[in-house]
Amino acid sequence: MAVEKTFVMIKPDGIQREIAGEIISRFERKGLKLVGMKMIKMSREKAETHYGEHKGKGFYDELIAFITSGPVILSVWEGLEAIKIVRKVVGATSPDKAEPGTIRGDFVLCTTFNVVHASDSGETAKKEISHFFEDNEIFDYSLPLGEFLQ
Ligand code: AMP
Repeated sequence: MAVEKTFVMIKPDGIQREIAGEIISRFERKGLKLVGMKMIKMSREKAETHYGEHKGKGFYDELIAFITSGPVILSVWEGLEAIKIVRKVVGATSPDKAEPGTIRGDFVLCTTFNVVHASDSGETAKKEISHFFEDNEIFDYSLPLGEFLQ
């Protein structure tokens, strides 16, 4: 098992619904370490790069319009197997498959407005972190019990 970093974005609806704190809290309570965070209004160019793999799909235009519609919170989380663990905490993309107890299982009814994005692989995590964060915006620090958690 390896310590990994992964990228999480709280989408505009997460902020509009005032559940950003709840979402952040779920990752903290799981034991993940917050190593980077900022709020931005995403440019169309950044959004198109981030969601490049979906270009041409039926939901693409709506997705780009939505993600650029208001501020988002970008974050980087670190921990053992963080990429897989964060995806579990987030829950499935499809609302009818997202289990209760996951963020999407508890807060999401609609696939587009699904409050949070998380990297789906090591390669994606690296790409997404460097797309949104400079090296000096990622922090290296220890938590009191960190040596037992990792
Ligand atoms: P993914 O790359 O699988 O995380 O998908 C990116 C985002 O696109 C999801 O979080 C949804 O917001 C949106 N999305 C994916 N599939 C659909 C779909 N079938 N209908 C509407 N939105 C979708």
